[in-house]
Amino acid sequence: MADEFTTTVYYDDDADESMLDDTTVAVLGYGSQGHAHALNLHESGVDVIVGLRENSSSRADAEDAGLTVKAPDVAAAEADIVKMLVPDTVQPAVYEAISDGLEAGDTLQFAHGFNIHYGQIEPPEDVNVTMVAPKSPGHLVRRTYERGEGVPGLVAIYQDATGDAKEQALAYAKAIGCTRSGVIETTFQEETETDLFGEQAVLCGGVTELMKQGYETLVDAGYSPEMAYFECINEVKLIVDLIYEGGLMEMWNSVSDTAEYGGLTRGEYVVDEDVAREGMEQVLEEVQNGEFAREWISENQTNRPSYKQLRQAEQEHDAEGVGERLREAVSLGQSESDEKENTEEEVTADD
Ligand code: NAD
Ligand code: MG
Repeated sequence: MADEFTTTVYYDDDADESMLDDTTVAVLGYGSQGHAHALNLHESGVDVIVGLRENSSSRADAEDAGLTVKAPDVAAAEADIVKMLVPDTVQPAVYEAISDGLEAGDTLQFAHGFNIHYGQIEPPEDVNVTMVAPKSPGHLVRRTYERGEGVPGLVAIYQDATGDAKEQALAYAKAIGCTRSGVIETTFQEETETDLFGEQAVLCGGVTELMKQGYETLVDAGYSPEMAYFECINEVKLIVDLIYEGGLMEMWNSVSDTAEYGGLTRGEYVVDEDVAREGMEQVLEEVQNGEFAREWISENQTNRPSYKQLRQAEQEHDAEGVGERLREAVSLGQSESDEKENTEEEVTADD
């Protein structure tokens, strides 16, 4: 077991918010992350301008919250730190629209490294390029801040034109609440590649394939779809919650000895080292050599044909209908998801 951190973690005492005293931050976008960053910065006493398009439906929300809203290029020109919180796929176009407002010594800041790492945005050498990325969806960035807490975050410096880019990034992390929890130092490359790998191989791709294959195996063998859905899809949350709380051993200790022995002996029948590693290494290779990025960028330039097709197929998967009927018929962990649903409604995308 690894018993020492290999990375640096920063807390409140490592950050000096007075770095932002004469600083104006333009928060571009008012979605999941944007609303949380703008409101937290504002309440921390930082001058904030929200950058939104004229016809953006988030405009009223931001103004009602007491924030100043301007067009993205105007906000960026007036600001010292420009925070890119529009969707990653539209960031290159938004950058084109605001880049004239980046003066020497300004900072262009991200919450994800994709566009810098894969060269979709190439800022001039005389601006700082930094990342402050909460490791959490925006509604939690906001909610924890309001409670006097914070979510963990990442900090990375790609380009340090002023010599104090990191101090400024840490001050920003403090102003949105992240240093209350802990901010881990990383690089644009590491954040981008591990993020893509994680969501493809394990979190979003791996887990859903495992669920669907498990479901189909039971249904094809003649078991009822409802039972298959419970066992292979719905209950995953209960197991993941235990691992989230206390690691793998907390989970093994909480399930029955039969489940533990069965899991420890049979898990590898399904996700065996050779096959899994071969697939995962391929995923990682396509992330590292830019093949995935090229494919996704070209999808976005051609109106997303494969994306739409895959999404349609997923929507039509039998398990989706079964899950929907089950959620209507019995309450599947409603108490816990209610809290999330309520807060998600305040985070309306405006497109
Ligand atoms: P989002 O989709 O929730 O919100 C994007 C907002 O951008 C929209 O609400 C809208 O206000 C604005 N917008 C959309 N299209 C625009 C356009 N063409 N021009 C101008 N404005 C436009 O996005 P998000 O999930 O908050 O992601 C923002 C950034 O934060 C991304 O880089 C993402 O990778 C990163 N990030 C997200 C999360 C998360 O959990 N959501 C976590 C960490 C980092
Ligand atoms: Mg400027």
